[in-house]
Amino acid sequence: MGYVQDVIGKVKEKNPNEPEFHQAVTEVLESLEPVLERHPEYEKAGILERLVEPERQILFRVPWVDDQGKIQVNRGMRIQFNSAIGPYKGGLRFHPTVYSGIIKFLGFEQIFKNSLTGLPIGGAKGGADFDPKSKSDAEVMRFCQSFINELYRHIGADVDVPAGDIGVGGREIGYLYGQYKKITQAFEGVLTGKGLDWGGSLVRTEATGYGLVYFVEEMAKDKDKTIEGSTVVISGSGNVAIYATEKVQHLGGKVVSLSDSNGYIYDKEGIKLDTVKHIKEVARGRIKDYVKDHPEAQYFEDRGIWKIKCDIALPCATQNEIDEEDARALVGNGCFAVGEGANMPSTPAAVRVFQSNKVLFAPGKAANAGGVATSALEMSQNSMRYSWTFEETDAKLKQIMINIYRNASEAAREYGYEDNLVVGANIAGFLKVARSMLAHGVV
Ligand code: NDP
Repeated sequence: MGYVQDVIGKVKEKNPNEPEFHQAVTEVLESLEPVLERHPEYEKAGILERLVEPERQILFRVPWVDDQGKIQVNRGMRIQFNSAIGPYKGGLRFHPTVYSGIIKFLGFEQIFKNSLTGLPIGGAKGGADFDPKSKSDAEVMRFCQSFINELYRHIGADVDVPAGDIGVGGREIGYLYGQYKKITQAFEGVLTGKGLDWGGSLVRTEATGYGLVYFVEEMAKDKDKTIEGSTVVISGSGNVAIYATEKVQHLGGKVVSLSDSNGYIYDKEGIKLDTVKHIKEVARGRIKDYVKDHPEAQYFEDRGIWKIKCDIALPCATQNEIDEEDARALVGNGCFAVGEGANMPSTPAAVRVFQSNKVLFAPGKAANAGGVATSALEMSQNSMRYSWTFEETDAKLKQIMINIYRNASEAAREYGYEDNLVVGANIAGFLKVARSMLAHGVV
């Protein structure tokens, strides 16, 4: 058996019942075969074996008291995967489906994504099997305080800087930060996604969605296509989906649908984003509430969103939300580009359908890197005790996304995988980390 398959086999053996982690490792490692052939020193130094084993995994109990006075217990975790190129960086996810396999897949992907941004940040991810939905603000606050009471000793502005992800937005970051500050007596840039009044960066809220659309626009431009005048289907209705919608609209595209885990809306005249922002960011409601204000739109309680005819699809909800059949439906309806706002939203079979039908395909680890890139810009501003304007930060984000696209497509070309951004992103992200690990010796 070759080196790569050998390492994948061991990952499956040592991490049983973690299919998402196996999927992410297999996808990355198989695409690195040509690099390993050209650089035998990586195998000799055991780079892959070290890369797939997190540097540190922290598991902890999160006890808290609900509004009825009942004690609840959740499981918290932080997986610090790789610090070869900088302090650990990656989001926290609060969702009932969280378990080690999800956090490992996300942490592993984060290594390459962070490297691709060109900024000095290592890879990590964390979270808890806590569901903030239908909890009161006070319950969310008590949960966040208990979570950070344990995690605070493992993080720090130059050690590990968590951010948001599914279920962790501005409110949660605020509660986490407040408690961290109280325990440590330190006002430092230990979390990103902070409020603008207390160290946050302009554009961080918009960054993942905007960055995704900048990336897709650059990718489309290379093939003489554009977002302007295109019909776009976006899944999810959280942070990434909302700001991807906003940027598509800025560029003259029409977004006709959004979703949540219950169903999706279809508004053929184009989504009215102010209504969605109010439902999601103020009222904390469900996407079906949209049709109360816009009876001309339709709501469907199923997962048929990918059957809607569109030119561009932007999955921005969760992992494995587009399967092979969905991919075939998109191709059949003439979709020319898919940009992953979420992490690993397309199954491997779906990716094969896109690639074999010449659909432009932007993998999440490249296309959604705008969030973490702007988090790193937040870290820089915190270190300098300074803030850049919206325009300055947005211009930096756009340039970073263009660079990621160029680096990934050049790496693909260099290794004979023209137009395959999956392989290109993996290779470009890997090389910098591998070189650094080699330089640091066996650690
Ligand atoms: P939010 O919590 O703000 O929104 C998530 C959205 O996805 C909600 O509409 C949610 O619906 C939906 N969703 C979540 N789980 C499922 C599911 N199992 N099935 C169907 N829909 C689901 O999260 P974000 O917008 O921040 O994150 C979305 C994706 O983008 C994730 O994959 C995340 O890892 C990725 N990402 C986020 C970044 C960021 O900066 N925020 C950076 C890079 C990647 P419901 O309300 O019903 O749960």
